[in-house]
Amino acid sequence: MTHYVYRFGGGVSDGGSGDKVLLGGKGANLAEMASIGLPVPPGFTIATTMCTRYYEEGQTFPESVQDEVKTGIAHIEGITGKTFGDAADPLLVSVRSGARISMPGMMDTVLNLGLNDQTVEGLASVSDDARFAWDSYRRFIQMYSDVVLELDHGRFEEALEIAKEDRGYYLDTDLTADDWRALVAQYKDIVVELWGKPFPQDVHDQLWGAIGAVFGSWQADRAKVYRRLNDIPGDWGTAVNVQAMVFGNMGDTSATGVAFTRDPSTGQNAYYGEFLINAQGEDVVAGIRTPQYLTRAARETANAKPLSMEEAMPEAYAELAAVFDQLERHYRDMQDIEFTVQQGKLWMLQTRSGKRTAKAALKIAVDMAEEGLISREEAIARVDPQALDQLLHPTLDPDATRDVLTKGLPASPGAASGFAVFDSDTAERRSNAGDAVILIRTETSPEDIHGMHAARGILTARGGMTSHAAVVARGMGRPCVSGAGSISIDAKAGVMKVAGREIREGDIVTIDGATGEVMAGAVATVQPELAGDFGTLMEWADGVRRLKVRTNAETPLDCRTARDFGAEGIGLCRTEHMFFEQSRITAVRQMILAEDEAGRRVALERLLPEQRSDFVEIFEVMVGLPCTIRLLDPPLHEFLPHAEAEFAEVAQAAGIEVEQLKRRAAELHEFNPMLGHRGCRLGVTYPEIYEMQARAIFEAAVIVAEKSGEAPIPEVMIPLVGTKRELELMKIVVDKAAQAVFADKGRTIEYLVGTMIELPRAALKAGEIAEAGEFFSFGTNDLTQTTLGVSRDDASRFLGAYVEKGIYARDPFVSIDVEGVGELIELAAERGRKTRPDIKLGICGEHGGDPASIAFCETVGLDYVSASPYRVPIARLAAAQAALKK
Ligand code: PEP
Ligand code: MG
Repeated sequence: MTHYVYRFGGGVSDGGSGDKVLLGGKGANLAEMASIGLPVPPGFTIATTMCTRYYEEGQTFPESVQDEVKTGIAHIEGITGKTFGDAADPLLVSVRSGARISMPGMMDTVLNLGLNDQTVEGLASVSDDARFAWDSYRRFIQMYSDVVLELDHGRFEEALEIAKEDRGYYLDTDLTADDWRALVAQYKDIVVELWGKPFPQDVHDQLWGAIGAVFGSWQADRAKVYRRLNDIPGDWGTAVNVQAMVFGNMGDTSATGVAFTRDPSTGQNAYYGEFLINAQGEDVVAGIRTPQYLTRAARETANAKPLSMEEAMPEAYAELAAVFDQLERHYRDMQDIEFTVQQGKLWMLQTRSGKRTAKAALKIAVDMAEEGLISREEAIARVDPQALDQLLHPTLDPDATRDVLTKGLPASPGAASGFAVFDSDTAERRSNAGDAVILIRTETSPEDIHGMHAARGILTARGGMTSHAAVVARGMGRPCVSGAGSISIDAKAGVMKVAGREIREGDIVTIDGATGEVMAGAVATVQPELAGDFGTLMEWADGVRRLKVRTNAETPLDCRTARDFGAEGIGLCRTEHMFFEQSRITAVRQMILAEDEAGRRVALERLLPEQRSDFVEIFEVMVGLPCTIRLLDPPLHEFLPHAEAEFAEVAQAAGIEVEQLKRRAAELHEFNPMLGHRGCRLGVTYPEIYEMQARAIFEAAVIVAEKSGEAPIPEVMIPLVGTKRELELMKIVVDKAAQAVFADKGRTIEYLVGTMIELPRAALKAGEIAEAGEFFSFGTNDLTQTTLGVSRDDASRFLGAYVEKGIYARDPFVSIDVEGVGELIELAAERGRKTRPDIKLGICGEHGGDPASIAFCETVGLDYVSASPYRVPIARLAAAQAALKK
């Protein structure tokens, strides 16, 4: 028969730390601690499976469970020698919830259960401490009324405050036994008034009330919200832990506290925690009294007067320190602990792996490996690659208060505060004048590059994780929140409306690109500190990974940043981003809007020297490393002029009338630019563009080879190919340009010509396409867009609902849709390799910096991933973890 009650304590352990699914985190670890001989008050856990059954059976308990609970109570009675409900020497218990992972949305704890008008007298006489007994009883009524009966706790607190005032007391500890006794009478009256019934006197009714309340809290609204936000399935259920009470409020030799075995904020290997003498657990949390430090060193550092536990209770402290060491050796991880000291005797009430900052995670992993507690491989696996983001960008001070206005997509990590500005020229002007600004746009376009560059951070109302704003901001290392749909912006008036409030130009705002939060006012930030542990862990990671890590970068600065972060080449240089620059955009527009080849060639001649010098700078940073340069892939709408002044400028440069230019721009208007005249379609129709770019690449390569003695390795990449013929035609253009340059300069450079796989057709025909191309780079932004038929720029409006409803597990533009897009990648890799066994395979979509997608790339056996500069370390660690998992 299934059973639901699992005992622990007194030499018995029905479960252990492996039973979290069944017993919840707290229950499993209590059983584990008991089994390794730590001082755990005896108790039992009612399994999570009971929670499920409780709901299946209309919120009732089967009789068998009632019997099992009786056995559980008998287990506690046997060990403590006390009897539940006994008027002379009563057993008191605590009742706590405990799901698989800790859930702040749920009912937490009821202490001192088992007290009533009779047993309180018994407790007073056996403890020889009436004050303690009545204090415990009033605590019990207060807590039970709050969390089980759900009565207004304010009324109880009010009564306590009045009692203190009437008597001229300041602290709770000033109240005497008679004071507490009087307050208990008042509390009971309040219960009758609010609940309509007297406070339950039957200890079994009390117990079942509390058990029912724990299970009931699993479906409370706040628990449901918490589960939704944290992806916790509703069918997990919670367990209930019933445990003999130990008392931290039995005078000055008693105490209660919480502790970490290492500092959870810095990772420093020093005990960290707080305790309170003569108190129960809730006093530490409630903040009524200021807790004292655990160690003397911590007290001295803080310059605090009240003695630390190390000084005030040296024996109990020594015992606790020994337990810390035992727990760390046993669990091989930093632990978060609750304990109580009852009249000098230490009791352990909880242990679990402690939550920590990224900085602490790194330090703890490296330290533990160096201490020999864990292996280097385990250290690598312990650090969440995404958390490294916290270390690479300034982050918001976790202790600072935040006035959150709304939430958008966390498009580019880091946090920034500054004056709100609504156009790029203002951003640049104010930034030049020394102001920190946040650029706020409905969406960004190439015209905004200078403003984005000048801004500390970027906020857009529209656009997804691969929108212009997101991609450019990530490349620049600027924090960005995109697609904050609840914002409406009137750039002309210089105002945005959000959450019923108005933010005007010059008001200070803060964005957190790691969470997507948008806040009013300044929030303090903390600067990254790439300490030694970071380098150590990265070195270990590099030792085990197979995937190479390249970067998506097109400016020398980005290339430098990426190299400093360990990039092993460029996986994607988007040449159209080089064209965005203010100094060039007019020539680029002139080229696009030209009516014929001759007109285009004029503009191209102007662009050639600029392109060449760009490539020289990039090759110099990346000398000796492969550099994938993608030929122009401009969604035309991103380049067409909009404002009158822009038309005038281009018309003047091209020597034609504004009206003629406008007519041409109207001709070029596309209904669906993402599926329009972009990628190699541009090269097919206007080969002279790719010819100029190829020439610039090879001329630059020769210059750098001559200057540094080492040649760069250009990999010329043709975008948006769907057929072998497109690639063949473009390869002819590139090869011809190469031969011309090599003949002219008298020097040959090794290079490759390959293609992106961004269209389902390209993936399907990869076998044929590989005949023409020497490498494939999976452009998973477009491949996702075209496979799913979901516009990457409009997805943010509805994809949230898709993720919420479980249609996609995660945003497919962030984490590869392994089942769909992933199958195309696998198929293309297989077909490409069949034709050309040594074909080089990489990924350069935004997924190249996403740990889950990197794990997928490892299983497909790609040669490299390419990520924006600030994600390179994340990719290195994720690649190592993926290799270890294989
Ligand atoms: C892609 O489509 O994945 C890609 C890298 O190209 P872009 O984002 O420039 O379209
Ligand atoms: Mg693309």
